[in-house]
Amino acid sequence: MIDFNRPPVVGTELAFFQEALESGKLCGDGAFTKKVSDWFSSRFHVKHVYMTTSCTSALEMASWLCDLKSGDEVIMPSYTFVSTADAFVLRGAKIVFVDVDPKTMNINPDLIEDAVTERTKVICPVHYAGVACDMDRILDIAGRHGLKVVEDAAQGVNAWYKGRALGTIGDYGCYSFHETKNYAMGEGGAICFQSDEDQERAEIVREKGTNRSKFFRGQIDKYTWVDYGSSYLPSELNVSYLWAQLQVFEKINDRRLSIWNYYHKTLRPLAEAGLIEQPFVPDYAVHNAHMYYIKVRDLETRTSLIRYMREKGVLCVFHYVPLHSSEAGRKFGRFHGEDVYTTKESERLMRLPLFYNLTEEDMRYTAQCILDYPGFNR
Ligand SMILES: *Cc1c(COP(=O)(O)O)cnc(C)c1O
Repeated sequence: MIDFNRPPVVGTELAFFQEALESGKLCGDGAFTKKVSDWFSSRFHVKHVYMTTSCTSALEMASWLCDLKSGDEVIMPSYTFVSTADAFVLRGAKIVFVDVDPKTMNINPDLIEDAVTERTKVICPVHYAGVACDMDRILDIAGRHGLKVVEDAAQGVNAWYKGRALGTIGDYGCYSFHETKNYAMGEGGAICFQSDEDQERAEIVREKGTNRSKFFRGQIDKYTWVDYGSSYLPSELNVSYLWAQLQVFEKINDRRLSIWNYYHKTLRPLAEAGLIEQPFVPDYAVHNAHMYYIKVRDLETRTSLIRYMREKGVLCVFHYVPLHSSEAGRKFGRFHGEDVYTTKESERLMRLPLFYNLTEEDMRYTAQCILDYPGFNR
């Protein structure tokens, strides 16, 4: 069976685990956490990077930092993972879903402004498949209405918008290092931001509401409970696993891109015959091959294709039942405007296996199975 995903293994993990063990410190903010945050900070030109236990917790931190009050509104696409919404719902926010642009499955910037009310506080664009949202347009709307921008860049690590790393463009950017993402530590994430003003509060929120980080820097002589907060520090063991991948950062990206490009080229005849649609990458975006998906005619075709692929030994999946149609989505949010594309397009989309350790043979076999699917060869 060809798995849909496997966590990246680069071969040096055990040596770094050993180093973490020998350091005598497995809790958060040890040597590996420092190295990894500094590495991202300099690589992506972002002043502050804090490792977290997940992208979900990074989003929760961002929502604390946005100072949301009950009833405040957050604009986002409905075609996203639950955490994008849940992190804000925990603060009492109402979610306002806006339709996607079917070409990228990102939030359609043309529809955002109409959804802004006097209660709107945040726009949360999601860089779907590691393909950038049109950030200039989103920042412009946010600027004119005094809104914060929180980027859900869970899928966007090492992807770019006009030369800027995704996750470093809005007020806060959130990364995921979950095992299904390009760079992984089992469970993990990070929050990025440029503003020095946010640093102290971010550290307090991340350290259970204490000023422990200041204490460790020697700026105060004892630490105490100063504000609200939670526990968002990942263990050194997890971070050391990620450190191994940072040593071969571009190699991982190149490998993923080569699989992505192979699928794209090999399946093009199906697109030319009008049987599928392929992903679209706007000129302003440099993507990171987070995901390869195709869109087929309709839900029925997708169900049949996924079943066919499984019979052939290849696991292909779909995801994201649009949040506004879920039980919690109806309770905590509303869809602004008409759902022209979100539901329709989500039902047609199927993802192919794409991970660092996918073999050439499995990649070729997967593409061949799709070409051979009887529904495309009638
Ligand atoms: C994976 C993902 C998340 C959640 O990441 P975790 O690290 O698992 O919390 C959030 N948003 C999007 C768009 C994702 O793809």
